[in-house]
Amino acid sequence: MENIRQETLAHAKKILIKVGSAVLTGSDGLDIKIIDSLVQEMSDLVRQGYSVVLVTSGAIVSGKQRMNITGKLKSMPEKQAAAAIGQGRLMRVYAKSFEKNGHYVAQILLTLSDLSDRQRYLNIRNTLSTLTEWGAIPIINENDTVAVDEIKFGENDNLAAMIANIIEADLFINLTSTDGLYDGNPAQFKKAKLIPLVREFTEEIESAATEDTSSSGTGGMKSKVLAAKKVTSIGIPCIIASGKKKKVLADIMAGKQIGTLFLPMADRLNSKKYWIAFTLRPRGKLIIDDGAKKALLEKGKSLLPSGIIDVEGDFDLGDPVSCVSREGTILAKGLVNFSSAEISKIKGLKTSQISQVLGHKDYDEVIHRDNLAITKQNLKNKI
Ligand code: GLU
Repeated sequence: MENIRQETLAHAKKILIKVGSAVLTGSDGLDIKIIDSLVQEMSDLVRQGYSVVLVTSGAIVSGKQRMNITGKLKSMPEKQAAAAIGQGRLMRVYAKSFEKNGHYVAQILLTLSDLSDRQRYLNIRNTLSTLTEWGAIPIINENDTVAVDEIKFGENDNLAAMIANIIEADLFINLTSTDGLYDGNPAQFKKAKLIPLVREFTEEIESAATEDTSSSGTGGMKSKVLAAKKVTSIGIPCIIASGKKKKVLADIMAGKQIGTLFLPMADRLNSKKYWIAFTLRPRGKLIIDDGAKKALLEKGKSLLPSGIIDVEGDFDLGDPVSCVSREGTILAKGLVNFSSAEISKIKGLKTSQISQVLGHKDYDEVIHRDNLAITKQNLKNKI
């Protein structure tokens, strides 16, 4: 087992570390001692030649502490107000701690809509790589004060998975308040055992994780496993471990058996396809026949009008849509070359008939395979 770990970590250089609120929180708000010790560990990694990008929660917890609020905040404006107060404080704590270790930090706050726009997505990528070249530590959080419902990442686990893709991380370490993924909820079953290694996402693995959260975190183990599923699908290994354990990062990098290691999956999505699959929200659906299903899944082909049975939703050229089987299984997601109104007219037809019906034909394919991410194999539940 240690061998697999060591082999998996041997070539890791760029590490994305996510720290959850539950790790950073003591009985009365931010736990400065824990932050100091994690920062010390991250700084040691940088000194050893690793590059580190940090995704951190803790803004809301910190804001609540400032305002002496106990218990959960209920309304969105309250959470956003607490985040607005807490984010500055969170950064001050990190900045002070990293500066003691000789490193400057850079704050980046993002919403899902920032990453859904390809241009902004690429800008963020360039900024992150410049910061890394300069030796600064990027510290990323969701821009809680403006993010509501449909533009929210949901949890920082999801945000971290997207950032892992943007920076093309070699390893994603997700630090939480439990020791890793257990075969049952350890809070409920005393006999629940830690799963040290996940080679594939079986039903058992997915059902082992619940949405139960600590009082300060969001998403629970479920969102951590989903984030692991996303990054491993593009070849990035993921480790979920306890951020409360002393020397956790050093021990992970030494290949010790700590937490749960999710091995990268064999079939990778390239970075653009990952962006399509995980960052973009589908604006509609194309129901496709069995022939098209086979062409997409087994032969890596583009989607042609002839394989489309039906269209749902109202979308334009360039929008993301899901490709769904007759049975309703989501098979793929891609960017369309025609609007929903146009596809309704050309569905079921041969490519040669497109210009006759529409009066123009800019593309042969409804979705070109370069803009099509197959999501069924590994990622059947969440897209
Ligand atoms: N962005 C939130 C915060 O900083 C936390 C979200 C999460 O824990 O996933 O408080």
